Amino acid sequence: MRKPLISGNWKMHHNHFEAIQTIQRLAYALSSSDYENVDVSVHAPFTDLRSLQTVIEADDIPISLGAQHSHWENKGAFTGEVSPEMLAKLNVSLVLVGHSERRHIFGETNADINKKVHAIIAKEMTPILCVGEMSEEREEGRTLEVVEKQLEEGLSQVKPSEVASIVVAYEPVWAIGTGKNATPEDAQEVCKAIREKIVSIWKGAGEDLRIQYGGSVKGVNAPDLMKQNDVDGLLVGGASLDPDEFSRIIKYRLLD
Ligand code: PEP
Repeated sequence: MRKPLISGNWKMHHNHFEAIQTIQRLAYALSSSDYENVDVSVHAPFTDLRSLQTVIEADDIPISLGAQHSHWENKGAFTGEVSPEMLAKLNVSLVLVGHSERRHIFGETNADINKKVHAIIAKEMTPILCVGEMSEEREEGRTLEVVEKQLEEGLSQVKPSEVASIVVAYEPVWAIGTGKNATPEDAQEVCKAIREKIVSIWKGAGEDLRIQYGGSVKGVNAPDLMKQNDVDGLLVGGASLDPDEFSRIIKYRLLD
């Protein structure tokens, strides 16, 4: 059984005061039965991480601390960057890699993403590798081709035992922040293909691998997405900024 993972990507929102309030309100809204059913992570801006670490540890909140981005080197002349070693020191446990905004706004390539995946694993954190097609690629019928290439190149030279414990997030680019989410059937079709591709290359890794869907997830659509066999969690952007809405998503079982 794969335990679902529901992750909030705060993007460039919430300063460290707002971050503290948000995590406290989220923790207040969740109960031990929620954490028994679902793993939860929040991926905050770098400037929030130290404050969030302090609150999570002081109040014993069972939410994993996540980052949105990392460089692949641990030290050096890389102005503006933050390293895997620095994130690990703050007890960050999950790091988004290859989010579509990093790929399309900041020009990250599959080769860059692959170096980051290796560097994050080397610091004993879990990469959440984001993959997904753009709307023209979907219209041209190239969704699986694009996603499979992102997987093959992003996970190149990663050992099967390591692939089993990472997370893949399928996020169709046309669904991110647009209010247009993929149907549960579309999400299932691609998440299933991702698992099959992983099994075909990294034998034995696919059954344990957790695959999230992301793209305009809200409380109203979370239950149907989570019913799909190969959807093991959700990566939530805009709706994760509001602790009431994010907690509704985490409690998807009760909304059905
Ligand atoms: C995201 O940022 O990964 C995301 C899926 O955003 P949204 O939920 O706002 O579409």
